[in-house]
Amino acid sequence: MKITIIGTGYVGLVTGACFAEVGHTVTCVDADPKKVALLQAGGIPIYEPGLDEVVRRNVAAGRLLFTQSTGEGVANSEVIFIAVPTPPQPDGSVDMSYIESVAREVAGHLTAYRIIVDKSTVPVKTGEKVTETIKRYRKTSVDFDVVSNPEFLREGFAVEDLMKPDRVVIGVSSQRPVAAMKEIYSPFNAPIIVTDTNSAELIKHAANSFLALKISYANALSVICEAAGANVQEVTRGMGLDNRIGTRFLQASLGFGGSCFPKDLSAFIHISEELGYDFQLLKEVQRINADQMARFVKKIQDNLWVLRDKRIGVLGLAFKQNTDDVRTSPAIDLCQRLLKEGAKLRVYDPEAMEKAKALLPASDTVEYVADMDAVTDGVDALAIATEWPQFTKLDLARARKSMRTPIIFDGRNLFDPAEMEKLGFIYKSIGR
Ligand code: NAD
Repeated sequence: MKITIIGTGYVGLVTGACFAEVGHTVTCVDADPKKVALLQAGGIPIYEPGLDEVVRRNVAAGRLLFTQSTGEGVANSEVIFIAVPTPPQPDGSVDMSYIESVAREVAGHLTAYRIIVDKSTVPVKTGEKVTETIKRYRKTSVDFDVVSNPEFLREGFAVEDLMKPDRVVIGVSSQRPVAAMKEIYSPFNAPIIVTDTNSAELIKHAANSFLALKISYANALSVICEAAGANVQEVTRGMGLDNRIGTRFLQASLGFGGSCFPKDLSAFIHISEELGYDFQLLKEVQRINADQMARFVKKIQDNLWVLRDKRIGVLGLAFKQNTDDVRTSPAIDLCQRLLKEGAKLRVYDPEAMEKAKALLPASDTVEYVADMDAVTDGVDALAIATEWPQFTKLDLARARKSMRTPIIFDGRNLFDPAEMEKLGFIYKSIGR
């Protein structure tokens, strides 16, 4: 099929590339001229494992095109996906201006029937608003359908998740677009749930909030485990092997972050409030998450006493492993808190250093190091903030010698506490 994707970011680019991979012809539109020029020149603006090959292969096959022109995108394809940002506003509600502006732009170019599919994460009833907007701004009374098709990909595993989705959710207000939507997704062999638009929109916020809740549950347990002298990893493993619970998203850490969970959680709380329900359970999820970071920083302060002029190595800047995304990254939050206390940082991340520099500029107090092992040179302590698997390969013998004082704060529980103590470290992790 011919498909257009408006918004060529983490979701739009991976979706476009994977649609092309199964044989569709995809036009990716983006408003950012630099991004479009980079993609047209064969570059990839984000780090996502396996993405570059899929993009290159499909560009070469003529199935994946990049343009800045929404008009071209609307003219090229019968199905138009929207994958633009839906960032949070200061009160926690969603900034819908990107979606609204794309709806108006698409409306202005409509000359024949089109299916407009919202893939961005949006508040329930957005489909209705997009429909109204298109009706208001279209130039002729041409037919169209608006569909909700939320995206569940995980950054770092996005290609895999797109190629083998657990399920595809399609929310419609009429039967007309269903066949085309099923045709787009049939090569992916996933269960397809066709439902009404409002339910489809709610599924996304309900799912992400539940995953955040699971993480906060593990984090709350970590507090109990520390107080009781138990090991949270043992407790969550013992729980998670129960099929009804599952082991995933049940790891204690310094807290969750990223561009989705915090914003989707606050959006869902806000949406619920507007619908007349005070979703206190989710407010508690937020509180536990905020506390978890505060507790981690306090652990560092309790051990190092005064942070002013202490040198701290930080491993990890991305919000999680396998990505260069630093949006709302707990690692960046940690660095900013340590800097505020007067610490000096040596930081390293395998993929996210360039993007991190926008939020954490290199300076007298922030030194970016090119090599993982060098992060420990001359530091008073090391903090581990992201669960990159390669961090478990840190040369500990070297670190033990190169650190001014051998103290490690592990916000991701990557090492075994007994082993670390045997190696001569003061090792503080989460819930163990
Ligand atoms: P992103 O910021 O990486 O990408 C958005 C892109 O849209 C940018 O390249 C931007 O230049 C472009 N854009 C903005 N306005 C535009 C316009 N008017 N016309 C054309 N392009 C425009 O964002 P993202 O992470 O891909 O997220 C997009 C949506 O998908 C959000 O609603 C997000 O919540 C949701 N989502 C994200 C993830 C994720 O892991 N990143 C997962 C599932 C759902």
